[in-house]
Amino acid sequence: MKKDLFKLGIMGGTFNPIHHGHLAAAEFVREEFKLDEILFVPSGEPPHKHKGEITSPEHRWTMSLLAIGSNECFSVSSVEIDRGGESYTRDTILELKKIYGARLDCYFITGADAIAEISTWHKSENLPELAKFIAVSRPGYKLGMSKIDPRFRRCTYLIEVPALAISSTEIRERIRKGKTIKYLVPEIVERYIHKNKLYQGV
Ligand code: ATP
Ligand code: MG
Repeated sequence: MKKDLFKLGIMGGTFNPIHHGHLAAAEFVREEFKLDEILFVPSGEPPHKHKGEITSPEHRWTMSLLAIGSNECFSVSSVEIDRGGESYTRDTILELKKIYGARLDCYFITGADAIAEISTWHKSENLPELAKFIAVSRPGYKLGMSKIDPRFRRCTYLIEVPALAISSTEIRERIRKGKTIKYLVPEIVERYIHKNKLYQGV
């Protein structure tokens, strides 16, 4: 008897910190694409960001775990954090394929800002063979096939998700200025940030 494929959504990010924009987009995509699971994968050492401005992988992983709460279709993976060094999507997908086995159908989820840079990702030429890409709308960024490298258009889906103009950068800035982050992140993440005095420095 032929077994169905396991449809896995992979949501990569720095998650510094994870916020409701990430969670709402992931849940919307899960439902629209009938995905079996969404795996949040916090990056180890992000290649596109400056060192020093990233909170420790342990904090980012813990906040992600707290944020997914009781959503039984959401999980958090430490593959990129465990691998250490810079995180490459290609390596992550290959590793997940080993873990989940041959029946895996991978959908990599990115925001409109991130998908526009896909051709700059490490060994990006192999990515279309490894996964399908779901590019979600994000306030402040234009979502359209014209923004996507032609080599990726055949493996990329575009989807409008409920618009939440939230970014981790803005959350970090608000904390530095002593402003509220209530309702931008799950309450449990807000408490974790305050308890551990994260993002208060310059
Ligand atoms: P930073 O400001 O530090 O870059 P961020 O809010 O962009 O943080 P990331 O961890 O960089 O969060 O993003 C992970 C993924 O989630 C990316 O693909 C990004 O485009 C997407 N994303 C982030 N925020 C939103 C949002 N509000 N709506 C839709 N997608 C989002
Ligand atoms: Mg970002």
